[in-house]
Amino acid sequence: MSLAITQQCINCEMCEPECPNGAISLGPDIYQIDPNRCTECLGHYPAPQCQAVCPLDCITMHVAESQQCLLARFAALWG
Ligand code: SF4
Ligand code: SF4
Repeated sequence: MSLAITQQCINCEMCEPECPNGAISLGPDIYQIDPNRCTECLGHYPAPQCQAVCPLDCITMHVAESQQCLLARFAALWG
């Protein structure tokens, strides 16, 4: 897992369409990030797009992952 959404989320829906990997979806209460699809936007953008648009800054680094790990995930998702 890399990024995660905290309980401060107000379900504004801003982040979901910005994710190039389809990693963000509405969970039981708030939006959530699928750790198997989040690459910290590596391979698509220079910085996490979800963090850039969240009005509450409630998307945080959950577990730092190596660039090698993120690139392997990107390759698994996109070939
Ligand atoms: S950092 Fe990028 S890939 Fe990860 S959830 Fe946010 S928008 Fe999606
Ligand atoms: S942009 Fe932030 S507040 Fe809005 S749904 Fe995403 S995580 Fe929640």
